[in-house]
Amino acid sequence: MQPGCSPDVSVDGSDVCPRCYVCGSSKLRQRFSVPLVDGPFRQHKSETNRTIYRCELCGHLSANLYDSVRYADYYASLSGDYHCCHDHDQSRYKQILGIVPTQSVRRVLDIGCGTGTFLAMFPSDVERFGIEPSSDAADCARAEGVETINYADLERPELRNTFDLVTAIDVVEHTADLQEFRRHLATALRPGGTVIILTGDAESRSARFLGRYWIYLNYAEHITCFCPRSVRTWLQPDFSRIELTKTDHHPLNLREGVSLFRIWLLFPIKWLLRRLLPGRLNFYAALSLPRDHMLVSAIRN
Ligand SMILES: [Zn+2]
Repeated sequence: MQPGCSPDVSVDGSDVCPRCYVCGSSKLRQRFSVPLVDGPFRQHKSETNRTIYRCELCGHLSANLYDSVRYADYYASLSGDYHCCHDHDQSRYKQILGIVPTQSVRRVLDIGCGTGTFLAMFPSDVERFGIEPSSDAADCARAEGVETINYADLERPELRNTFDLVTAIDVVEHTADLQEFRRHLATALRPGGTVIILTGDAESRSARFLGRYWIYLNYAEHITCFCPRSVRTWLQPDFSRIELTKTDHHPLNLREGVSLFRIWLLFPIKWLLRRLLPGRLNFYAALSLPRDHMLVSAIRN
């Protein structure tokens, strides 16, 4: 199997030959077993556990039990409401805009653009494009003035290597074929263009301290998790000036603080219930700490 190919696993539990999603290495160490209870597995009749592997070469985390068809169907079925939940606090978009070289951006692509909330924050004279699998959310994005396209469109001569900026906010952790994803980034961007990625950090304090109870690994949608080393390994073939900044999923404000407090308050109850009623509850017991994400920026070679 070539680097970046999906691990040869099935959703029914056979784990034939797991490989690192970033470097393709088979030198993986089993780290955690976590239940699959939400996302594409919400309606699953019996609870399944998946294994999270850590690559001994690049430090990347890869989960088994990934089925591309099941996940694609799930994302396509999501409503605009799902994406609005992610948009309730737009301060993180402002934070991202703060590191964008806005004066040089005439054309931007947001991969996983949802309802177009982030793209709508750009000046109206900037050409705004989005890729979004949910047709419901894509309709909302178009209403915001976003031109929605798909990955194949990036090969069109009028789009290929023309974007000044490509963003992927909360996207790469949902992606198994990371080599293909990087090729899409490289195809879209002009030489010297900027990519900005927001994703979890497998070596953050939260990840190291909480282990299998780190909430990020408990979302069934998250099938992969970068660390600073693996994100550099992944981007280096096409990008340079890779810069990483520790950050939060949403900037820590009063609302996020209350949410975090509630997670910690409910954790002992959820943990105990899961111990008493194993396999019969459609929630997980998991925790979070601040600064468990990283903001990555890099320049197209
Ligand atoms: Zn690796």
